[in-house]
Amino acid sequence: MRLSRFFMPILKENPKEAEIVSHRLMLRTGMIRQQSSGIYTWLPLGKRVLDKVNAIIREEQNRSGAVELLMPTLQSAELWQESGRYDAYGKEMLRIKDRQDRPMLYGPTNEEMITDVFRSYVKSYRDLPLNLYHIQLKFRDEIRPRFGTMRSREFLMKDAYSFDLDREGAEHAYNRMFAAYLRTFARMGLRAIPMRADTGPIGGNLSHEFIILADTGESEVFCHKDFLGFDIPGEETNFDDVAGLKAIFDKWTSRYAATSEMHDEAAFNAVAEGDRLSARGIEVGHIFYFGTKYSEAMGAKVLGPDGKEHAVHMGSYGIGPTRLVPAIIEASHDDNGIIWPKSIAPFDAVIINMKAGDAACDGACETIYSKLGNAGFDVLLDDRDDRAGAKFATADLIGVPVQVIVGPRSIANGEVELKDRKTGERETMTVEAAINKLIATK
Ligand code: ATP
Ligand code: MG
Repeated sequence: MRLSRFFMPILKENPKEAEIVSHRLMLRTGMIRQQSSGIYTWLPLGKRVLDKVNAIIREEQNRSGAVELLMPTLQSAELWQESGRYDAYGKEMLRIKDRQDRPMLYGPTNEEMITDVFRSYVKSYRDLPLNLYHIQLKFRDEIRPRFGTMRSREFLMKDAYSFDLDREGAEHAYNRMFAAYLRTFARMGLRAIPMRADTGPIGGNLSHEFIILADTGESEVFCHKDFLGFDIPGEETNFDDVAGLKAIFDKWTSRYAATSEMHDEAAFNAVAEGDRLSARGIEVGHIFYFGTKYSEAMGAKVLGPDGKEHAVHMGSYGIGPTRLVPAIIEASHDDNGIIWPKSIAPFDAVIINMKAGDAACDGACETIYSKLGNAGFDVLLDDRDDRAGAKFATADLIGVPVQVIVGPRSIANGEVELKDRKTGERETMTVEAAINKLIATK
């Protein structure tokens, strides 16, 4: 992508409305634009990061055995009357009427709809287990939308729903998602700690929130320091191995961890003082087992091996991609801007042409741009007619992991500079060596 052709409306000034660093940086770099309270456009730079986040989520959901579909955002009120949640949900639900005066709603979540899909097709235990998910916009009329896309009214959610014949099966489904979540967040450079959680209006009795520690987080959390060192399940994890996944779950729930709603002061005080961590955190995921709450109410039953009908045991599993993007920035930035982990960076590298219009600089930039592109790199070429200093500042601000700096003096010797955005380390080498090094470390 040539920056001269891209759409990246960088703001010169720090936006005054932003209270936390991620919100400020997302506005400054032209990642998002607020359209009305808690409702955002994802501009091209932001959209690239969001797509990478979604791709990782999708890969790990698929790896764990979940199957993707896509449900609509607008739902009929009738479904919610069946479960009894139409009246229970309160003002967070945006209620709408269509032209026939039929009550509709913009879905805040999809338990009812997925239960309806399930009951329409699945009639036998032989078709279980099943886990269906989608990545879809939700609307919750939050009383206090704030911090940009961290807490917005319209937001993206990956929501998965599991169906099993009995509690035992449902616990395995829960453990699958539990392990998939640990892997998902780790791949984005985050350490998410599963904490015992309240189940709220969704209902049920087994639930964990996945929390990223951050000073600007809205939740108050208490946990054991051991969580900072636990191993993340590897690529080789077998999601059909019931005992293996239970062992991961047991390990990651073997120490104290709770948000303020579930906090037990006495239990926390039983942890050695030096091992106690009380901090603030951001909820990036939430998983629930809620048994037969919806399947009973909505008649989602299957024939079991005993020839009898059984209401299926269900769970639901959410991740907030549009919250994850700012959460990652909260965890990874410096005074100069964002520092993207490689896995979700909007571009793999940025080429800075210090003197656009200079034949040697232009030529070298084009060579590097096309060779890296052919090697599968997503490269941004800063080919604008601007001061070198401004280009350096922009590259630091938008946080692309590697910068290739092409200047008239060094290119006279056939050399360029590579700069690592995170460490600030710079290295001078020939154009060819730079290309080879980048390709080797991709
Ligand atoms: P919170 O406690 O932060 O209000 P919640 O418990 O209501 O969230 P869930 O119903 O568990 O949220 O939704 C699953 C995930 O969706 C959350 O873990 C979070 O990552 C994301 N999410 C929920 N509400 C919002 C929001 N208003 N803006 C952005 N992401 C959200
Ligand atoms: Mg929650």
